[in-house]
Amino acid sequence: MDRDNILLTPGPLTTTLRTKLAMLKDWGSWDADFNALTADLRRRLLDVIHAADSHVVVPLQGSGTFSVEAAVATVVPRDAHLLVLDNGAYCQRMGKLATLMGRRTTVHSRAEDQPISPAELEGLLRADPSISHVGLIHCETGTGVVNPLAEIAEVCERLGRGLIVDAMSSFGALPIDARTIRFDALVAASGKCLEGVPGMGFVFIRRDLVDACAGNSHSLAMDLQDQHAYMQRTGQWRFTPPTHVVAALAEAMRQFAEEGGQPARLARYQDNCRTLVDGLGALGLRTFLAPELVSPIIVTFHAPADARYDFRAFYAAVKAQGYLLYPGKLTQVETFRVGCIGAIGRLEMQQAVDAVGRTLAAMGLPAGRA
Ligand SMILES: *Cc1c(COP(=O)(O)O)cnc(C)c1O
Repeated sequence: MDRDNILLTPGPLTTTLRTKLAMLKDWGSWDADFNALTADLRRRLLDVIHAADSHVVVPLQGSGTFSVEAAVATVVPRDAHLLVLDNGAYCQRMGKLATLMGRRTTVHSRAEDQPISPAELEGLLRADPSISHVGLIHCETGTGVVNPLAEIAEVCERLGRGLIVDAMSSFGALPIDARTIRFDALVAASGKCLEGVPGMGFVFIRRDLVDACAGNSHSLAMDLQDQHAYMQRTGQWRFTPPTHVVAALAEAMRQFAEEGGQPARLARYQDNCRTLVDGLGALGLRTFLAPELVSPIIVTFHAPADARYDFRAFYAAVKAQGYLLYPGKLTQVETFRVGCIGAIGRLEMQQAVDAVGRTLAAMGLPAGRA
C-alpha cells in the first residue's frame, strides 16, 4: 500500500500532502522571511477565537504539555492556589505539573464519564477564597468528554478567579469565542485540530495580564512573558524555533481557512464521528460515554467483552490494514479510543470501520457482539 497509515489518534494525526510538502524548505531563524511567517501565523491563530483585541498569543517549542506547563508557570503567581476538577487523565496531568513546580494545587477527582459541574465549581470557590485560579480541560481527551467552558468561565469571572484552559484537542474544531468567554490563558498546539505536525504549542494570554506575569515563572524556558516580550522586541523566538513545524502549521492554517474555518472543520469531524459510531455500533461496539456526551474529537469504545479479545493483537491486525487505533486511558474499564480528527473524511472513516469489522471477524468475535 503506498498510502501512509491513517492515524486515528488525537495527535500526531493524518496531515495533507500540502502540509507535509511545506516542510521541504530550510528557514533561517533570524531571517525576515521566517519572522514574517511567525507574525502571520500568530495573527491567524488570534482570529480563530476572535481574540485579537483581548489576548496575545505566544508560541512555544515542544509538545502540547510544554505549553500547559508554561501557561501555569507564567500566569499563576507563585503564592497562588490552583483548583482542578478532575474528570480524566489530562486534568490529572495539569494537577501534577502545577504541583511539581511548587504551586499550591487542589485536585478533586470526579467521574470520568461526566462533564465537570459549574454549580459544584461555584460551591468550591465560594467555600475557599484562597483558590485564585481554576484549571480546566476543555475536551478531556482521555475519554472525549467536553467540559462546559462557557459556564465555567462565567463562574470564574463572576467570582473573580483566574481561568487557565487546556483547549488542546478542541481548538479549531469546537467553537471558542474570546469576545464572550473570559479566560486568563488558553492553550493549544500545532498537531491537533489545526492539522499541523506536532512540535509547538501556543498560549493565548490576556493582554492586560501578560506584562504583570513577569517573574512568575520558576523556569527560563517555560516563561511565556519573556518569550512574548522578546518576540515583540525582535520578531524572533527566544531560542531555536521549530522552523519546519511553524511552516507546516502556516500551510495547515491556509487550508483551514479554505475549508471554511472552525464551523467547516467541526462539520467534517462530526461526520467522521457519526460514521465511526454508527459503523462500530453496527458491529456491536458500544461507546463508553452516553451517546449525548460523545464528542467529535475522540471516541472511547468498550472493548468486546470476550476472553479472546486482546488489544495488542486487535491493534496489530487493524494496523496491517492501514489504520492506527489508540489505546484506552481508563484504569477501571477495558476500552480503546478512535480519533475523529485529522485530514480524513467519511471515506477513510468507513474504511477504518470495515477494517475493524474484518479484524473482529478474524479474531472469532462474531460481528464483534460486545
Ligand atoms: C494532546 C493533549 C495535550 C498535550 O499532550 P502532548 O502529548 O504533550 O502533546 C494536553 N491536553 C490535552 C487535552 C490533549 O489532548
